[in-house]
Amino acid sequence: MSDIAQRYQNILANIKQYELKYNRDPGSVNLVAVSKTKPAGMIRELADLGQRAFGENYLQESRQKQHELRDLDLEWHFIGHIQSNKTKDIAENFSWAHGVDRIKIARRLSDQRPAELAPINICLQVNLEGEISKSGVSPDEVVNIANEISTLPNIKLRGLMAIPAPDKPHDQQRQVFSVMKALLDELNAQTRAYDVLSMGMTDDMEAAIAEGATHIRIGTALFGPRT
Ligand SMILES: *Cc1c(COP(=O)(O)O)cnc(C)c1O
Repeated sequence: MSDIAQRYQNILANIKQYELKYNRDPGSVNLVAVSKTKPAGMIRELADLGQRAFGENYLQESRQKQHELRDLDLEWHFIGHIQSNKTKDIAENFSWAHGVDRIKIARRLSDQRPAELAPINICLQVNLEGEISKSGVSPDEVVNIANEISTLPNIKLRGLMAIPAPDKPHDQQRQVFSVMKALLDELNAQTRAYDVLSMGMTDDMEAAIAEGATHIRIGTALFGPRT
């Protein structure tokens, strides 16, 4: 077995193990394979093993790979920060956008989504305390902003996304992710329309699954370190 096939099997086994350990429904945790900076050939190898969802951060790079892999039926997730001048390309070429952090961005994605495509799935990015990045809405704005963007026609708000600081012990990681779960529950107290918590990366996937992650975004543990 190649290195990447081995790592893929390991991750799938870890997901199964943590679903069991934390009483999550089998199959309730989806793997988004974060392929940023990695070549199309590695994506193809994972696709041959059955992986469909791939996460990318850099638009130009991902458009190139989408072109090289256009013979495959893949589901592309834009997971990076979204600038206004990138919304059209994202609306036209991705099934998901995880890093929506402004009403303006949601509105542009809705306006620019081609009519022949299903609404683009989006997550509202939340900035939890102590994050290095400045992206994301503050927790007390989540309900208002979600209500406002949920009325837009060509996007489908699925839930929340976060990128907490990675260098924390397991208990503190869980505490941070539990705030996200509570926020999603708060949103669902009104509508029960939201089914996605996009959280958990290579170094905190166990804590994220323990607290209810439905989409973990894994790069390093699958593709090896990025240079
Ligand atoms: C790079 C990246 C990941 C993957 O991180 P790893 O630690 O390599 O698993 C996940 N989410 C986002 C938003 C990223 O930018």
